[in-house]
Amino acid sequence: MANKIICPHCKSDGGFFTKERITGTAHMYYNSAGDLEEEQGAMYDGLSRHGGTKAYCKQCYKPIGKTKDLASGNHEEESWRR
Ligand SMILES: [Zn+2]
Repeated sequence: MANKIICPHCKSDGGFFTKERITGTAHMYYNSAGDLEEEQGAMYDGLSRHGGTKAYCKQCYKPIGKTKDLASGNHEEESWRR
């Protein structure tokens, strides 16, 4: 189990966020009536992410470090399954 990430500014252990620029093409699906379909299947497949190198505290919004030093590389859902 990795050490908890604690914000050096406000001592919060609520986690952090990154600022990323998302670019790409999203497909929006409509049916034959011109209605926007509920199921938007793969609309995010063509998107790519840039930036996100700095991590910010979710509580006080101050920078707390580099994402590559803080991020575990795991998804929360994955760690639950293990
Ligand atoms: Zn903070």
